[in-house]
Amino acid sequence: MSEKTAEKAPTAPAAEKAPVRVDFEFRRELARKVEGNLASFCYQCGACVGDCPATTYSDRFNPREIMLEVLYGLGDELLTEDSVLWLCTNCYNCHERCPQEVKPVEVIISLKNMLADRGIYPETVKRIIHTFETTGRTTPGGPAVDKQRERFGLPPLKPVPMEEIQPLLKPDAEGIESPTEARPAAGPKPTPAPVREGKKRFAFFPGCLIPARHPGMEAAIRTTLTNLGIEIVDLEGASCCPDPIYFKSKDKMSWLSVAARNLTLAQEQGLDVFTNCSGCTATLSETHHLLEDETLRGRVNGRLQRIGRHYDGTTQVKHVAVLLRDEIGYDAIRKSVKRPLTGLKVAIHYGCHLLKPSRVMQVDDPNNPDVLEKLVEALGATPVRHSNWYLCCGKACQSEDVPMNMMHDLLGAVHKEEAELLCLICPTCFGQFDYGQAKVAKRFEEDFHTPAIYYLQLLAFAQGVPYDELGLDRQRFKVECLRRFETSDEEAGESSGESAGASA
Ligand code: SF4
Ligand code: SF4
Repeated sequence: MSEKTAEKAPTAPAAEKAPVRVDFEFRRELARKVEGNLASFCYQCGACVGDCPATTYSDRFNPREIMLEVLYGLGDELLTEDSVLWLCTNCYNCHERCPQEVKPVEVIISLKNMLADRGIYPETVKRIIHTFETTGRTTPGGPAVDKQRERFGLPPLKPVPMEEIQPLLKPDAEGIESPTEARPAAGPKPTPAPVREGKKRFAFFPGCLIPARHPGMEAAIRTTLTNLGIEIVDLEGASCCPDPIYFKSKDKMSWLSVAARNLTLAQEQGLDVFTNCSGCTATLSETHHLLEDETLRGRVNGRLQRIGRHYDGTTQVKHVAVLLRDEIGYDAIRKSVKRPLTGLKVAIHYGCHLLKPSRVMQVDDPNNPDVLEKLVEALGATPVRHSNWYLCCGKACQSEDVPMNMMHDLLGAVHKEEAELLCLICPTCFGQFDYGQAKVAKRFEEDFHTPAIYYLQLLAFAQGVPYDELGLDRQRFKVECLRRFETSDEEAGESSGESAGASA
């Protein structure tokens, strides 16, 4: 049963409602959070509601109503143990749609910062934040992780220098107002970044999930990019980005400061950064974007000064999909393919943070992207756009029902198109589709059996890496449909052997 049918909140009779008194102190407290003041510009048009998945899949959540409660200063209704704020999936659709640049999702995150100030967290969020604050990662390493990495020829994970992280988590001195009090000017429309000639050396920001949980993905990234002429420079001492869902919800200033420290690691090497996870891309790109504001950059540099660092605002961030498109190009990818995936129907999952907020990410048209379709086409496969392509994986939503129902609808749409696998470009989305799909099968008694695959692993396979060396054996839903292309390899080998023998 969905939240829509399960959790209908009782409505009080109109006569019993007390008159609303605007709580200005609540509004002032929110305005002190980074971008927390933006709700003041809401004129209640409702444009943020139409594409909001949390509204579609739950009766309790409506971003317009949340903005209205903010305008009234109804903190008592928003800042509660079972706050509706945690139903937001962080998909950024409202950010795209709002004509007033209110950025409802950012206001919601600032409200979560206020929840955190009061010590109110969902248990999962509390656990992940604690892991980050003690290890510098949200997915820590250890002997078992190192053993897995060794299997792919990867070195052990080094500890994060916590002596550089912990000073950044301490608050600023009292009395510093939010530097974003003024209404921001509308940014330019998104256009793909231009191809920059001769820039083939990049700092690699690995994040937490891929190195610790999916070393096969990391190995595929290193192999394929090296094949395509990219020099990968490892970032010594990098921490979690930090994650744009949990840690950003605790404290945006600490989140920005730790992210800026990661950018300084690349800045010191004079390099731009590439990422392999849409969440890392979101954090680092947004940090780069927000720190164009000199006042905010000054505040963040005040914290970085505690560890002898300074961010100058110049480090650019590229998701690996953008690196492939803009620095390598579809033709070069096509030429690198040794095993064309002809006839393979591949559904595409963009997720949210690769594309949105589009004014920050500047990757592709968020309403009609094609970068992943073209990357799949370059491998000889047939990309498939399904009717629920714009839905997100639901990872940020702290509810059982909302993400489960979203995933069910999304997989149903993929199945209808008869796609053999689902290609994605983010390890968080991958987890949702691999582990989450098993839960969907159990709850709905409907097994779509659509394996998910990270694009760089598909690219590695097309470039000739054997199936058994990709790390796909660790997935719940195996990508057995790829085996038939290995059979073709054998047949090609046999026939060339036969003809060689015949000519000898
Ligand atoms: S981020 Fe997505 S789920 Fe959250 S309020 Fe905006 S549209 Fe709704
Ligand atoms: S779209 Fe913007 S202005 Fe309209 S209700 Fe939502 S937050 Fe308010």
